[in-house]
Amino acid sequence: MKCMLCGKRTGSSSMPLISMFSDDPLCYDCRKLWKPYRGSRDIEGIPVDILYDYRSGYSSALIQYKECGDEALKDIFLYPYISRIRWKYRGCTLLLMPSASEKVRQRGFDHLAEMFACLNMPMMSPFEKRREIDQKGGTRSSRSVMSDNIMLKEGAELPRKILLVDDVITTGSTLRGALHCIDKQRHRIRILCAGGV
Ligand SMILES: [Zn+2]
Repeated sequence: MKCMLCGKRTGSSSMPLISMFSDDPLCYDCRKLWKPYRGSRDIEGIPVDILYDYRSGYSSALIQYKECGDEALKDIFLYPYISRIRWKYRGCTLLLMPSASEKVRQRGFDHLAEMFACLNMPMMSPFEKRREIDQKGGTRSSRSVMSDNIMLKEGAELPRKILLVDDVITTGSTLRGALHCIDKQRHRIRILCAGGV
């Protein structure tokens, strides 16, 4: 197998024994550049589970995937964590943070849905960006109620056990906006981000 990032045979790294028994789409040398996130973050009291430090090898791969449209990289991000995530969040439905629809159209694929598809967990995209709603001509009263950047799509029905997911957390404003759309009494909410700053 060839490494998805450097093209080297995955069995030919500096740690051949590890590589030989792994199905990791990245070679050991590329994978070791992705550093685990060491900090701790929460959003309004809900801890955010963050896998990688964004400033490590993770960010250049994410840019290649997301901004350069390299769709083939979709499975490299969560690979080492698939079992752990499926176990820790069993019973949850993944709720994807919204992307600007113009970006999705340009890219030609939904980068977040494809990144999380390897988990084989139920997922939905119930949110939309507020700016796009404004462009569609939201009424003045609905605009004034929306203090956040995103809102729930009309008619979206949320499951009880929710896992909010995103590719990277920076200020946390998107996740905070999503959180404000959800009734915390009726839903159990947890948060997972692949990368964090
Ligand atoms: Zn490599």
